[in-house]
Amino acid sequence: MRYSAFRIFTEGLTGNKGWKPVWREPDPKPEYDVVIVGGGGHGLSTAYYLAKEFGVTNVAVVEKGWLGSGNIGRNTTIVRSNYLLEGNQPFYELSMKLWEGLEQDFNYNAMVSQRGILNLIHSDPQRDAFARRANAMRLSGADSELLDRDGIRKMCPFLDFDNARFPIQGALWQRRGGTVRHDAVAWGYARGADSRGVDIIQNCEVTGFQIENGACRGVETSRGAIRARKVAVCVAGSSSRVMAKAGMRLPIESHVLQAFVSEGMKPVIPGVITFGAGHFYVSQSDKGGLVFGGDIDGYNTYAQRGNLPVVEDVCEGGMAIMPMIGRARLLRMWGGVMDMSMDGSPFIDRTHIDGLYFNGGWCYGGFKATPASGYCYAHLLATDRPHETAKHYRLGRFRRGAPIDEKGQGAQPNLH
Ligand SMILES: Cc1cc2nc3c(=O)[nH]c(=O)nc-3n(C[C@H](O)[C@H](O)[C@H](O)COP(=O)(O)OP(=O)(O)OC[C@H]3O[C@@H](n4cnc5c(N)ncnc54)[C@H](O)[C@@H]3O)c2cc1C
Repeated sequence: MRYSAFRIFTEGLTGNKGWKPVWREPDPKPEYDVVIVGGGGHGLSTAYYLAKEFGVTNVAVVEKGWLGSGNIGRNTTIVRSNYLLEGNQPFYELSMKLWEGLEQDFNYNAMVSQRGILNLIHSDPQRDAFARRANAMRLSGADSELLDRDGIRKMCPFLDFDNARFPIQGALWQRRGGTVRHDAVAWGYARGADSRGVDIIQNCEVTGFQIENGACRGVETSRGAIRARKVAVCVAGSSSRVMAKAGMRLPIESHVLQAFVSEGMKPVIPGVITFGAGHFYVSQSDKGGLVFGGDIDGYNTYAQRGNLPVVEDVCEGGMAIMPMIGRARLLRMWGGVMDMSMDGSPFIDRTHIDGLYFNGGWCYGGFKATPASGYCYAHLLATDRPHETAKHYRLGRFRRGAPIDEKGQGAQPNLH
């Protein structure tokens, strides 16, 4: 069924009886060409592009909970392509281009809103670093601008420009950045994949891999064994636990990241704003709530709930740049488990086990990558060759001395 304004109109006239479920609820078949483990954004987009771009439709996505129960339904919805390094920037720009055409492509309203992202600058060295980043962005075809104080003041007069510790000196501005409704992304990809024949199997946990003579030939699940020619893992915060079942130890730690929403208020924040001297990012939802977040909780955990010290830290970050936030009441907060890699960059690669593929290590920036990650992972699964823009995301990059350390933090996963 195609969604359109005409369809809404005719359904309205006929009692809304013609709408169909957005995806089927099939039982698992005994065998598939590809089994994708994890029905988050990356798993669903992989299934969608496998079917749509590469004609591989005998595919199952197995999800231990319900679609959208993981980080795809927990993130702060920010999308951008303002990266610096050669290994990252073209990939995130590909993702941005896919976001721009996504709603037409999968015929679903994902509320893609390119309201711009403003990275504040608080010192001269930071201005130099952002100027370099802005140039790197342009080299990959992305848009970037450096704003002075007056340029920012026009957009955000409420910021504390003359804060004694963190005066605002300028900003890196990407107009094409913004927000996308996260759970609609999962639903849109699920619907697009399902309509092309992909089986989406919820409440089906992968409990082990069938490894025969060094090759992966299927998975054990809570709903029985499923054979497959290829098994593609993308379980985000559960990466280390799931890959351990195949005997693999990953360069990944899991940490919790919290997000916050204030009570609803009149439109005040034009796009996304990030604090340059601490870690705080904020946007405003269509309902009026300020949606914001900051650093991860520093300890390793698989629990989807955070601790109070980070709440205080995030709120202090917000107060430092926009003191008016102190008068808003916090409505709710939640946590998600992040797969933090040693250099802060992801993996999309085959493993040393034939037929077993891995996608993960997205740290806390994987939502914006959802379309490109699915596209490149589908390319790898269909052709057994890495996609050009994801060719640096190999598991062996540390052995080759080629980490992609976007933040320059070294092997400190909690700092990326
Ligand atoms: C609070 C918060 C804010 C964030 N903000 C942003 C942001 O603003 N911008 C941005 O780009 N990124 C952001 N992120 C990061 C982003 O959400 C993640 O990097 C991305 O969603 C991870 O990929 P995914 O969608 O596939 O993960 P998930 O949705 O977590 O999907 C993984 C799935 O695997 C399933 N699974 C796990 N184990 C098994 C198993 N054994 N068998 C079957 N299924 C299994 C899980 O149930 C889960 O549904 C944020 C994350 C959080 C938590």
